[in-house]
Formats: sequence, C-alpha cells, structure tokens
Amino acid sequence: MRYISTRGEAPKLSFEDVLLTGLASDGGLYVPESLPKFSQEDMAAMAKMSYAELAHKVILPFVEEDVSSAELKTMVDETYAGFSHHAVAPLIQLDKNEWVMELFHGPTLAFKDFALQLLGRLMDHALAKRNKNLVIMGATSGDTGSAAIEGCKHSDHVQLFILHPHERVSEVQRRQMTSLIGDNIHNIAVQGNFDDCQQMVKQSFADQSFLNGGQLGAVNSINWARIMAQIVYYFYAGVSLGAPHRAVSFSVPTGNFGDIYAGYIAMQMGLPVKQLVVATNANDILHRCISANHYVKHDLVKTLSPSMDIMVSSNFERMLFDLYDRNGAELAELMANLNAGKADSLDTDRWHKAREVFASHKVDDERTCAVIKQVAEEHNYLLDPHSAIGVDAGRVCNQHPEVPMITLATAHPVKFPDAVIKAGQAAPQLPRHLADLLEREERCQVLPNDLAAVQAYIADTLK
Ligand SMILES: *Cc1c(COP(=O)(O)O)cnc(C)c1O
Repeated sequence: MRYISTRGEAPKLSFEDVLLTGLASDGGLYVPESLPKFSQEDMAAMAKMSYAELAHKVILPFVEEDVSSAELKTMVDETYAGFSHHAVAPLIQLDKNEWVMELFHGPTLAFKDFALQLLGRLMDHALAKRNKNLVIMGATSGDTGSAAIEGCKHSDHVQLFILHPHERVSEVQRRQMTSLIGDNIHNIAVQGNFDDCQQMVKQSFADQSFLNGGQLGAVNSINWARIMAQIVYYFYAGVSLGAPHRAVSFSVPTGNFGDIYAGYIAMQMGLPVKQLVVATNANDILHRCISANHYVKHDLVKTLSPSMDIMVSSNFERMLFDLYDRNGAELAELMANLNAGKADSLDTDRWHKAREVFASHKVDDERTCAVIKQVAEEHNYLLDPHSAIGVDAGRVCNQHPEVPMITLATAHPVKFPDAVIKAGQAAPQLPRHLADLLEREERCQVLPNDLAAVQAYIADTLK
C-alpha cells in the first residue's frame, strides 16, 4: 500500500517512510492511497477474535509491504499484553443502547497508549532494519507525552524530546512524563503555553539543520500509524455489539480529530456506522464548523478537559481531503485560505456531505461536572471529564435511539481529579502500578520560551 499527501505535491511513500517522516514535504498529511475493505464474513469472524488478533487483522493490510505477518503478530501481542484489562478495551453498559468503551487500561491511563505502544515497536523495527537513528520531538498538553515516553522508553534507535508547557499540566500528567528515567527520554518544560511548544516542534520540522544531518520523527497524530492503530477498537466495539448485522454509533471526545477520524476510516472499511458525534469542550471550532459551517479560529480557552484544549484540529484536513474528492490542489488552496482567515466555511454541498455522517455538540465545564455527577449517581459509574463530554454529546446528538451509541472513554478519571471533585465525587485512587508516582524522582529541563535555546539543548544532549 502506498500513501499520498492531502496536498497532492509530496512524493508517494511506503508505510515505513510515512511512519518515520511525519508531515509530508508539501505541508499535507499522509493518507492511504486506497483502503482495504472487510466483507460481512470478515466481520462475522472478527466477533470471535481477541483484541490482539483483531488488531493484527485490521492493521496488516496497511503495513504488509514492510512488516511481515509474523513480525506484526509479535508486536501487537506484546503491545496489548501490556494493558491491565483482559478485554483491553472493555465495553460498559450505562443504559439501553448507551455504552462506554474504556480506552484507559494502558500504562498511562489514556487512549493514546493504544497507538503509541505500537508506534514505538514499529519505529524500532523500521530503524533497526535501516540501521538508522531517529530524533523525535513532540509537544504535549499532557497525555501524548507520557504515552510517547512509555512507547519509546525501550527503543535503541530513538531519542525522544517531549516539550510540555511549564507548570501548565496536571501533577499526575507531569510526573507520568518526568519520573520515567531512560537514557533516551528527555523532558523539556518550556516557559510558555502549549501552542508555543507546538510551534517550536513545527519550526524544527521545517528546518532540521540544528540536528547536523539527523532526522526528525513525529509522535503526534499527524503520524498515520497512530490513526491506523486506533481503527481497531472501532471494529472491536462494533462487532461486539452486533456488526455487521447491526449498526452502531460513536461519540468521541475530540481535540485534534485523530481519534474520530479513525472511526470514519473504519466506516470506509466496511463497519456499519450510523453516526459519528464530534464532542468538543469550549474550544469548539469543529462544532461550529459541523453544526453551522463556520470555521474560524478563536483564542484558546483553558478547561477542565485539557487534552481537548486546541484551537485547530490538524487531522480534520484528512477528512476534508475526502470531502474535496481527494483533490490535493483544491484542498491546499482551501487550507491556505482557512489558515489565513480568507475563508471561513466549506463549500455548501461538501458541508452537507459531511453532515450525513458527523454530528457535533459542545459541552462547557459546568455541564461536564453535571454529567459526571449524574452518571455517578444514576449509573454508579465514574467518568473522566473528557469522557463525560462524549456521553453528553452522544445523548444530545442521537438521531437513532434503536442503534447503540458508544462513547469512547478516553482517559481514566484519576488523571483529572479536579473535575471529579468539582462534580462532588471522591477522587479516585491511582492504580497499583502508579501508586508511588507522587514519590518518584523526576527529571526535566526547564527552558525559556525560545526556539534557539531549545534546539541548542537538543543538539547538545545528542552529542
Ligand atoms: C488526546 C485526547 C483527546 C483528543 O483526541 P484527538 O485524537 O486529539 O481528537 C481526548 N481525550 C483525551 C483524554 C485525550 O488524551
């Protein structure tokens, strides 16, 4: 399978090249040239598979030119054996046709482990074959950083630099990153905000000369391999609740649009999906776009669901690529106009096409806490704030009450005690493997909000 850029100019690449490259050279994102399709019989057979078996089945067509079936099997087996629940992604029933899929049983307690545990193994495999090393730079507002660190800590070929905004991540989130001491793991606390960190990563990709010939790789969801790994749990949930004979809907707490885009891909691959609900917090550019065809950047709002605090969603471009009939030139122009504020909406027909699949809803902090409280009291189930936004949006947007609505529970409530306490619930306990987290030694470099200083630190550390 070959991969093409959403902006139509960059060369077509193989899976492993896409895995190691991140952003396409024309500024676009890589997507598969065509998608594998699963038949009714394929999906009926999936219902009997373990999570790791299903992951192998779904992922193999995307990677098979570079990774053998047996190699992939070892990687997925190891990846999902590291999850603490035997079902890996258990489904919890709240009410008739109302479900929650728990995606927080990986090592760092958020759904990002599903992809990043595998990504680390895939990268190491590719780099070992090529006898190459890779410098990875990533910006995080919390969950990506720790998941990437966990995913890469055993790598012999990766040096990982994670930038987080100094004093702007929760204590649990910070300690999950800084207390993992590995020689190839480097935490940088930037004296700025998340956008400053992200901007530094983008600028470093654009001009990699500070690495003196080294190559930069990406762990954020512009990396196709992350999307690919996330397609699996949509099939897992779907076939558990009756697909291919019965359709399902999903409500997805959304920031960068990576997670819900994986659901959209699952649908293109044959999974019968009725609705995909984009659940946002006060940072609602996607809700404004999907509900009212209004796409304009607003300032960042700090919320109780920080992993969704984002001004623009990079993976939205991948979906727009399909909406614009995969015309890279047209999409490049649209993206340039949207980013420059010269356009503020999508072509009306194309917007209507998006609305056939996607619905959206925005949930503020107060409502988030009310939902945590209601679900705790009436269903005896504790949601984290991101997942609570998903549950609320799923209820509000549901057009097909006869179809199961599955909310993706993207994080464990223990990561976000502030919201849980505000909702009048007792703060949950850290799970056993993290019980001593608050006593562990930390390692982190605080640096000024200055690109040159950060790049000099990286270059120096690599020597
Ligand atoms: C990253 C994250 C999200 C947002 O996912 P996207 O793929 O960026 O849309 C939602 N909830 C939690 C807990 C996250 O860590």
